[in-house]
Amino acid sequence: MNNETMPNFLIKRAFLTPDRIAVYFQDKALTFKELYDYSLNVAGQLQGLGVRKDDFVGVLLKNHLDTVIIFFALQLLGVKSVILNNRLTPSELIWQLEDSTSSLLILEDSFTDIKMVINQQLASLATITKSDLFAKENDSADIKEEISLSDICTIMYTSGTTGHPKGVLQTYGNHWWSATGSALNLGFVESDCWLCSVPLFHISGFSIIMRSIIYGMPIVLHEKFDVQKTIEDISDKKVTIMSVVGTMLTSIVDALTVSGLPEHFRCFLLGGGPAPLPLLEACVKKNLPVFQSYGMTETSSQIVTLSPEYSLSKLGSAGKPLFPSQLRIELDDHTAASPQHAGEIVVKGPNVTAGYLNRPDATKEKIREGWLHTGDIGYVDEEGFLYVLDRRSDLIISGGENIYPAEVESVLLSHPDVTEAGVTGTDAAKWGQVPIAFIVKREGAALTLEEIHQFCLTRLAKYKVPKQFYFAEQLPRNAAKKLLRRHLHELINEK
Ligand code: ATP
Ligand code: MG
Repeated sequence: MNNETMPNFLIKRAFLTPDRIAVYFQDKALTFKELYDYSLNVAGQLQGLGVRKDDFVGVLLKNHLDTVIIFFALQLLGVKSVILNNRLTPSELIWQLEDSTSSLLILEDSFTDIKMVINQQLASLATITKSDLFAKENDSADIKEEISLSDICTIMYTSGTTGHPKGVLQTYGNHWWSATGSALNLGFVESDCWLCSVPLFHISGFSIIMRSIIYGMPIVLHEKFDVQKTIEDISDKKVTIMSVVGTMLTSIVDALTVSGLPEHFRCFLLGGGPAPLPLLEACVKKNLPVFQSYGMTETSSQIVTLSPEYSLSKLGSAGKPLFPSQLRIELDDHTAASPQHAGEIVVKGPNVTAGYLNRPDATKEKIREGWLHTGDIGYVDEEGFLYVLDRRSDLIISGGENIYPAEVESVLLSHPDVTEAGVTGTDAAKWGQVPIAFIVKREGAALTLEEIHQFCLTRLAKYKVPKQFYFAEQLPRNAAKKLLRRHLHELINEK
């Protein structure tokens, strides 16, 4: 279909604004022209290895300038990149590589053990370290000058927070509309510069490099989140926007002195999980602009974001669906819920995936008539602002009452001596399930279990107050720093 055709994004960007900076990484800065030249070279090296258009190629790389180059080299060839999470075990990686029928895996030089195990157990798969790839002779690459918006660009497995991960198909169109929807909400100004310290293998990070080439905007890429480096670079590199998850924002708030952040800084885009109200309030106090957002791998990052003018009056809301997208709340009988009534969050839009790789059943179950059933519970208010309550699978039903772990965690986190909190359900004969809580104390705090119990009793209805509290050194989190509630129980056995 002709109306779905666009020029290859990087080629177009390098043509439009060749001399603008694309990426700052450590002490290097690359223009769009240089990014294109390097990517073209690597595309030739990949072609020399036999990689061809429409192949699936696995990528297991850290946040690094080279990673950005490799991602764009793969796009120049029209390859589908299977983007793998660095924190997975070899057997999880092998599962995803087999599931995606990847023909090659590109990985970090330092991942020698993983490479060995994969070579032994999946002999049919070719593997190459990035240094070996960069040392290859390069053919002149067969570049895909045009893309179709419905072509698959990336496959990203869901975080597996709730179970076995599924390969989410993300097209060029999904990325295009995600970037466009974001700009139509946040606005885009020529001075914009986006700091990326969330993983590039996660949609939160990958979407930043796609925005970079679509907008012509520089990004500052960090290998990982470092609070001091964040504060320094926001000033020195004139960062205007930064994507964060709750735990990152908490450390930034704690580390900032009264003077806050420089004027040019426009906002933190907060996503990935529940935004505890105490954290949002602390940001208001310190004058830190935060836009809460809601999204997932299946929506190629945010699909709902709070517009700047509502950031105070609708504090705690994830906002309204972005311009190209729609949202409704569905009850169990599939009818639409009225405002203030909780139900499943269901979304639709050109940034929403067409489905899961090799999983027609899961695709059919989750996407009906273009509406993605997210598995998350929320409600909208009379004006259409979304409030996310929790994942349906994490809901605790106690004596017939619904308890949302995120609400209880938010209360726990409002205690000054609590830095992390996780709540889950445990079986109880009389009630079906009751909530229990796991807490990480602020260092040196003398908080007792009884104190925290009393604190909850004055702030939560009795049935929501955890029946047991446990202190922990740390809580189980995945690579995106998301709380893995289904692993909380294991902390009890560790005691
Ligand atoms: P899996 O689908 O494999 O269980 P996952 O859902 O954690 O993993 P992601 O796509 O990384 O994988 O995360 C999206 C999920 O994160 C959403 O479906 C939602 O549960 C949660 N989330 C994102 N934004 C918010 C928010 N603003 N408030 C509450 N939860 C959020
Ligand atoms: Mg999910």
